[in-house]
Amino acid sequence: MKTIPLMVPAILEEDIQEVIAVLRSGYLVQGPRVLSLENTLSKALGVKHAIATSSGTSTLHLALIALGIGSGDEVIIPALSYVATANVVELVGATPVFVDIKLDTFNIDASKIASKITSRTKAIMPVHEFGLAADMTYIMQLAEKHGLFVIEDAACALGAKENEKPVGSFGDFGSFSFHPRKAITGGEGGILTTNSAQLDEKIKILRNHGISYESGAMDFVEAGFNYRMTDMQAALIESQFHRMSSQIIYKNELAGYYEQYLSDVDLILPKVPENKNHTWQTYHIVVPEEIDRDKLINALKEEGIGSNYGAQCIPSMKFYQDKYQLDSSVAFPNAWKAYKQGLALPIYEKLSRADISYVTTQLKRKLESHSIFV
Ligand SMILES: *Cc1c(COP(=O)(O)O)cnc(C)c1O
Repeated sequence: MKTIPLMVPAILEEDIQEVIAVLRSGYLVQGPRVLSLENTLSKALGVKHAIATSSGTSTLHLALIALGIGSGDEVIIPALSYVATANVVELVGATPVFVDIKLDTFNIDASKIASKITSRTKAIMPVHEFGLAADMTYIMQLAEKHGLFVIEDAACALGAKENEKPVGSFGDFGSFSFHPRKAITGGEGGILTTNSAQLDEKIKILRNHGISYESGAMDFVEAGFNYRMTDMQAALIESQFHRMSSQIIYKNELAGYYEQYLSDVDLILPKVPENKNHTWQTYHIVVPEEIDRDKLINALKEEGIGSNYGAQCIPSMKFYQDKYQLDSSVAFPNAWKAYKQGLALPIYEKLSRADISYVTTQLKRKLESHSIFV
């Protein structure tokens, strides 16, 4: 039997050697390799500043704090995302305001944002879900009109673009993650992008215990965090980053096979709008209501295939359900459906066309098997 996990990080021997070189250097945390990664990514993304941190959650947390968002403020986010997108809003004492998604792109339905804007709204935090840019041109226009900040949660979407402009370069901040479930990884790690020198300075102080070197002498000017990245992580991430463009091209080929092999089945397949590229952090489909998605995940596991639900309908997770008591199936029907019936399938460098053929053949067999019906 074949074994095809949902995700396998593409760590090559050359990446490992980069990490070993850091260990031999004796300089382990936030040193020359972190600086090098920051420079490489700010150039690649066309932004003035890129700040490395410990995770994609710490980048979002720092972004909200640096913008002064807190108690009494509202932040607009999609109802479907990884739960960290909402957690950071709660962590600064603000209120997440959920907006439904579109079922073909799984991104926030931008046409539904305006009706959620109130006098308390401070920011829009769109997510570039599964590696595809949200409708950033429209969202930036809306934010400008209403005087709102924009923080792009690009955790899954390094390399994604709208009209050839990289995600992370649209908003006040762009946030990226290097968790092993993302396209390239440092084990953990994050990058925050901004074009503002003032915000860049503030974030760098907050990430490192509130330390500032202004006017030559070191002092502690904020009650800061330790949200630093290590040089081992930075070396590992930068080494993989050099292959990322070719990795995205290859994953688009694999996504093409999925689309081809699944074209004759009753499924919602991901769509790629013409003005965007997809980086395929996840190949996410939605199965019909009569299928018990969790039984399907187990049935695929029996054939050696790793799959999972793609993202949470956040307002229906216990903490948010208890606190806000929203009926997601009514208020966010698309996010609810994508959560309940959504399925993330394997897509990464190590897979071949034959692997995709195997996954889709097994998936079709299981979809026809009555044991997985609701
Ligand atoms: C992974 C992810 C995060 C969190 O990133 P970490 O590096 O794991 O903290 C936040 N938002 C989204 C959309 C994600 O996919």
